[in-house]
Amino acid sequence: MVQEVLIVTRVLGVVLDFQQTVASSVVISGIGLHTGVKVSVRLCPAPANTGIIFKRIDLEGFRIEASSRHIARVSYATSLMKKGVLISTTEHLLSALAGLRLDNVMVEIDNLELPILDGSARPFVEALAKAGVRRQRARRMHVKVLKTVEIAEGGKRIAVHPSETLRMTYRINFPHPLIGQQELEFTPGVDDYAREIAPARTFGFIEEVEMLRRSGLIRGGSLENAVVLTREGVLNPAGLRFPNEFCRHKMLDLIGDLALLGRPLIGQVIAERAGHALHAQLVSQLLRQKDAWTLVSEAESPSKALEPRAAELAASGVS
Ligand SMILES: [Zn+2]
Repeated sequence: MVQEVLIVTRVLGVVLDFQQTVASSVVISGIGLHTGVKVSVRLCPAPANTGIIFKRIDLEGFRIEASSRHIARVSYATSLMKKGVLISTTEHLLSALAGLRLDNVMVEIDNLELPILDGSARPFVEALAKAGVRRQRARRMHVKVLKTVEIAEGGKRIAVHPSETLRMTYRINFPHPLIGQQELEFTPGVDDYAREIAPARTFGFIEEVEMLRRSGLIRGGSLENAVVLTREGVLNPAGLRFPNEFCRHKMLDLIGDLALLGRPLIGQVIAERAGHALHAQLVSQLLRQKDAWTLVSEAESPSKALEPRAAELAASGVS
């Protein structure tokens, strides 16, 4: 009997996929990578079907939804803008939220740029672990890809193909002794986001550092929040967190940018030498092409494989 109950619970657990929010509020503070300004972020529970919303508490609580509708600048970070109000460098927090499968969170922020912290999504994951996760009553809906959508631009490429689950591949190729060609596959729900992806830090080449500084960017940048590559190696005394930390960070950014779809994706994403601009173009292009996707709850799609088992259970009289 106990075994039968366990089987039924497991089947139901997969078939019924519910939205999630944080169980309690948590605060995280730091400085913005590009602005260098001190900023404090409070991650708060939000009702079902609200999605991720940024709330500028320094601007009378002005709200900007984490949606492709508001994508503004995508050169060195993904920024959102609504009615002239900016939220900058959203991708690492959005990556942590998507990686931990949080659907509805109110992000209260007292400045325009998210804190860079250690350059990865790990501090956000740790804060979210402290806050805890609460399951909500509403079913989670997904954007399921029906037709391939592809963006290619000067040797860079990103595509999403139909698939029964979300699977992601990232390939990068930099002529550097520590990078060269790297390829990483990540399957959410199978691979561990918190361990495999979240700790990978942002990186840049030392030649770029001066150029970016002159453009008024990376005012808050340091070896504490980025891997800096020299011609031969890295400037950071402690070295890398993973041999392929660069490719892992690109995957981290991709997961964060895809969160701007507003719902989790079901499809196979392949990115080659892409970046924020291409990630954002894919999101916008996919949503615009209405015949390329449909909205499904998980029960209608990846769990199809479970149906024969459910039928078996019914036949054996368990249900
Ligand atoms: Zn990044």
